[in-house]
Amino acid sequence: MKLEEMKPNEIDEMLNRAPIVYIPWGSLEWHGVQNPIGLDALKVYYLCLRAAERTGGVVFPPVFCGYETMKPYLGFKKTIEISKETVQALAREYLEQLYDEGFRIFVILMGHYGAKHVEALKEVCQEFLKKHTDARGIFAPDPTFVADKGIQGGHADLYETSLMMFFRPDLVDLSLLPQDREITIEKDGIGGADPRNSSKEEGERIANFLVAELSSRVEELMKEIEK
Ligand SMILES: [Zn+2]
Repeated sequence: MKLEEMKPNEIDEMLNRAPIVYIPWGSLEWHGVQNPIGLDALKVYYLCLRAAERTGGVVFPPVFCGYETMKPYLGFKKTIEISKETVQALAREYLEQLYDEGFRIFVILMGHYGAKHVEALKEVCQEFLKKHTDARGIFAPDPTFVADKGIQGGHADLYETSLMMFFRPDLVDLSLLPQDREITIEKDGIGGADPRNSSKEEGERIANFLVAELSSRVEELMKEIEK
C-alpha cells in the first residue's frame, strides 16, 4: 500500500477496490532534544499505514513541507521553513495529479499543525473539492481524531513523543531531556503535556483510538461514493 513501492497493476487493483489515497503531511522541524526533526511527517505516515490496512487504499510517501514552523515562531534551528506559496502549490499539484490517476477519496493527515499551515492546506483542499464534485476528502491535523477521548496533542510533548516511541522507539531518547527543571516552549521548543512522562503504551493507546476514528470516517466516505 506504499504508493512508491506499487506496480501499475497493483495500483489499478486498488483503484477498483478502494480509490483512497492517504497523504501524510508534516515538516522538518525542531521537536525537542529527544525527538527526530521529521517527527510530524513520520508520525502521520505510520498512522496512515495503519488506517489503510483497515480501509484499503494507498499511502503517499511522507511529505516534509511545513509552513509556520518553530523557526519563525521562536527561532529554533534544525528546522526547514517552507513558504505558504510552496506548501499550497505542492498540495494543489499532488491532489490534482492523484485525481487524474483515478483516486476519489483524499486524506491529508496533517502532522504539523501550526494554525497558518493548517489554514493554508485547508484552503487548497476546499478549492479542490469544489472543483471536483465526485471527490471526497478529510483534511485535518491528527489530534482532531482523538479530541473526544480527552487526548490533547501538543508540540514535541507527551502526545507526540509517545506516538514516536510507539512507532519508532529507536528514534527517541528521553534521557536527553533536562531532569531538574520545568520544560517550556521558549527554552525547549516543547509545548503541551510533559514529555518526560511519555511511554510506548501511551503512544499505542493514542494510535489505536486515532486509527479507529480516522478509518471509520474514511469508510463513511467510501459508502458515499459507492451510492
Ligand atoms: Zn509536531
